[in-house]
Amino acid sequence: MPLRPINAMTVDVEDWFQVQAFAGTISRNDWDGLERRVEANTDRILAMFADARVFGTFFTLGWVAERHPALVRRIVAAGHELASHGYWHRLAHEQTPADFAQDVGSARKLLEDIGGVAVAGYRAPTFSINTRNPWAFDVLAEQGYSYSSSVYPVRHDLYGMPDAPRFPYRPRNGSLLEIPMTTVHAAGRNFPCAGGGYFRLLPYQMYRAALRRFNRDGAPGIFYTHPWEIDAGQPRVEAAPRMAKFRHYLNLKRTPARLQRLLRDFAWGRVDQAFAEALKK
Ligand SMILES: [Zn+2]
Repeated sequence: MPLRPINAMTVDVEDWFQVQAFAGTISRNDWDGLERRVEANTDRILAMFADARVFGTFFTLGWVAERHPALVRRIVAAGHELASHGYWHRLAHEQTPADFAQDVGSARKLLEDIGGVAVAGYRAPTFSINTRNPWAFDVLAEQGYSYSSSVYPVRHDLYGMPDAPRFPYRPRNGSLLEIPMTTVHAAGRNFPCAGGGYFRLLPYQMYRAALRRFNRDGAPGIFYTHPWEIDAGQPRVEAAPRMAKFRHYLNLKRTPARLQRLLRDFAWGRVDQAFAEALKK
């Protein structure tokens, strides 16, 4: 029987008003005037991870890092991996290659300056690297990243690249390693198994069974959550589309307890540890 693999635990560090679901309702110009809850929520996650003795990777938005440098330093001091979620949380495929380079390059520099550590990893907002923008992998390598975790090999209305590889690969024969979000393959299609909204929607036991099934062959999986997903007290964006609100607010109250179970039911680590073998090659 293969050893129980270490899965990668990841957090996309962004605030409640920066999510793609509200992009049509809340302008970036208004971000500075909104109540910031990201620092307190990320501190709660750090405490949960400390309790469970779990280390993870924090894909942090440059915009957040600039306003909460002490938080970035606490993430690093606690032994977690600091990684980048870009600066402005703009969809990668809606940017020109030059704008994308500026966004991911400035975020990496800012995070390295504040955190005092090298930043190797990047996650595109809303998994926005797909068949429309394969050049993004080249730009990430040029901007000094060694891996990306931005491809979700599923069919979904907002994101996804259903025919992409399900396991780590080097796109376009380049130097960058892509670590796709975890999926289980059944009945000829891929089902999401990486957390996010599905982790709040489906019963916990279903998620656990799916990840166990994925781990059975010894491959490490990758899970993601957000600080706002454990914050039932966040301001409600009433003007947002109904579907966006359903997805964003679903089961927020239940998430902390679920996350705590998950932290204990599997072995977890940072991306650079869980995927150390693939990163080396
Ligand atoms: Zn995000």
